[in-house]
Amino acid sequence: MSEKVIIIGSGPAAWTAAIYSARASLEPLVFEGAITEDNRLMGTLPGGQLSLTTEVENYPGFPLASLQEYLDAAIDDKRQMMMAPHGGHGVSGPELIELMRQQAVNFGTRVITDDIVDIDFRDRPLKVVTSAGESHETAALIVATGARANYLGLPSEEEYKNRGVSACAVCDGALPRFRDKPLAVIGGGDSSVEEADYLSKFSSKVYMVHRRDELRASKIMAKRAMDNPKIEILWCRTLDEVLGTEADGVTGVRLKSTCGEDDLTVDVTGVFLAIGHTPNTAFLGDKLELTDKRYIKWTVPFRTNTSVEGVFAAGDVADDYYRQAVTAAASGCQSALDAERWLAANE
Ligand code: NAP
Repeated sequence: MSEKVIIIGSGPAAWTAAIYSARASLEPLVFEGAITEDNRLMGTLPGGQLSLTTEVENYPGFPLASLQEYLDAAIDDKRQMMMAPHGGHGVSGPELIELMRQQAVNFGTRVITDDIVDIDFRDRPLKVVTSAGESHETAALIVATGARANYLGLPSEEEYKNRGVSACAVCDGALPRFRDKPLAVIGGGDSSVEEADYLSKFSSKVYMVHRRDELRASKIMAKRAMDNPKIEILWCRTLDEVLGTEADGVTGVRLKSTCGEDDLTVDVTGVFLAIGHTPNTAFLGDKLELTDKRYIKWTVPFRTNTSVEGVFAAGDVADDYYRQAVTAAASGCQSALDAERWLAANE
């Protein structure tokens, strides 16, 4: 039997799409992703990028406070056991995503914990195939599989993730461990300038570590970095190792030279990777029109339509610009409304 709408993903876009489509009686079925070692290493476990962050201070509705009683009332014990203890600093990324998931389930969303590995858009209904080999048919499809931040793949980077290594200054930059301390940003594009500039508001100094002797960033952004007295660019350098201790987390970085100079060790309490993102679109092959960076292309201005009728895209999988939980949630809402209207007109 065909579903009315299937949603692939489990970040803010997917759960918001599920909340809206469940309340519109579309009985959504969500594939939230599989819990596998491969997904852990890639940063694509259920919950998406939000579940990899700590405190979320910029999502409206969650000012500084203890949410423990609310979490106890909303989320059952078994799922709370999988979350870090509540820190009393407003909401954390894993808590926020768990609350969104629960809200979707409360309205009747069904959830399957598996990856979609193939899709077939040749006939109606559309068909999706899970990694367990099950096929499911659907009239409409919402793809909200997000993107993942690129890391260099160093063991030391992995060791200090969430203890000083981050790929999101906007999410983590204002945390106490980074305040009035020197920090490093890796990369030379617009994002690295934006991150360095943002971090310079909290930190004592920001080292931008770039592998060449010229920034990739646009002229105006490059000027912003050069003009900021708190930013020092370390040219022709790559990150070789994140240094740290069990007790303190990150304490420094060892940098290699790409111009034949000696290694350099710099004291920092945080390392922010800004070397680009990769959208989670590999499973789509070329069945949906993608941008040159392989993000899903929205084909109708101000709508979430894609190149295939009845297929909609929401969140970071189609947005390499804003990349915020709240903007992903907003486009998840739009995709559910677009799917609902498309179903009303076409089914
Ligand atoms: P990007 O432009 O692709 O820049 C990535 C940077 O990371 C490059 O400097 C690159 O070095 C470096 N890098 C990549 N892999 C590396 C590795 N393995 N080791 C060391 N360095 C590595 O990505 P982005 O900065 O995230 O920007 C993405 C898009 O969003 C761009 O089109 C950008 O203009 C746009 N954006 C705009 C704004 C704005 O206008 N306010 C802000 C953010 C992003 P190389 O230069 O040597 O290749």
